[in-house]
Amino acid sequence: MDLNNYHRIMEQCKDAKATLVAVSKTKPVEDIKALYDAGHRDFGENKVQEMEDKQPQLPEDIHWHAIGHLQRNKVKYLASYVHLIHSIDSLKLLKEVNKRAGNEDRKVRVLLQMHIAEESSKFGLDNQELEDVMNYCESENPEHFELAGMMGMATFTDDHQQVEREFKGLRKLFEDCRADERTNKDRFTTLSMGMSGDYEIALACGSNMIRVGSLIFGERNY
Ligand SMILES: *Cc1c(COP(=O)(O)O)cnc(C)c1O
Repeated sequence: MDLNNYHRIMEQCKDAKATLVAVSKTKPVEDIKALYDAGHRDFGENKVQEMEDKQPQLPEDIHWHAIGHLQRNKVKYLASYVHLIHSIDSLKLLKEVNKRAGNEDRKVRVLLQMHIAEESSKFGLDNQELEDVMNYCESENPEHFELAGMMGMATFTDDHQQVEREFKGLRKLFEDCRADERTNKDRFTTLSMGMSGDYEIALACGSNMIRVGSLIFGERNY
């Protein structure tokens, strides 16, 4: 674990009024506890099973962020405690969240994951699917989630300009969606973009939530 990197990134977040989600996937609970003891509370995992294993072993006031592609049949496992789901990439998934959060009598905060990368492999909604989500929210008024903003992942490339273009595109989508009359502006406030390799570009493009793993916890060995 690299506390120097952690403190440096926290300073950058403070300047940008952004939240740092420390991405602890593949890392042991001891590492999470060490960062918790340094005062950190927001942790991100991309696998439901792994989050399930770790959550009961750690303090209850941790904010658990589900950041990876989420299968519908796994929503029931995290509905009772998840703080923010970053990866709503289909209307079906959103409906499942509404149902399972309803069973827990909760309102779960979610981000709409948009497909911004030129790579086709990444998940995310396209503009038509976004429109479908907005229409669903307006017509059915689902009560067990709150649209809290958007998330996106840029192409994995060292072409700085391409990454910047993709982040600016997401920022625009976010602003447009926020200005939409169907959106609750007071709630739709989070723009989650930026990882270890591109978080500085993301912050410069208006991100207010970054998800950083390897710079803090070290490289992952799978
Ligand atoms: C793993 C992961 C991250 C963090 O990646 P790093 O490059 O280690 O910072 C961020 N977002 C998502 C969705 C991830 O799966």
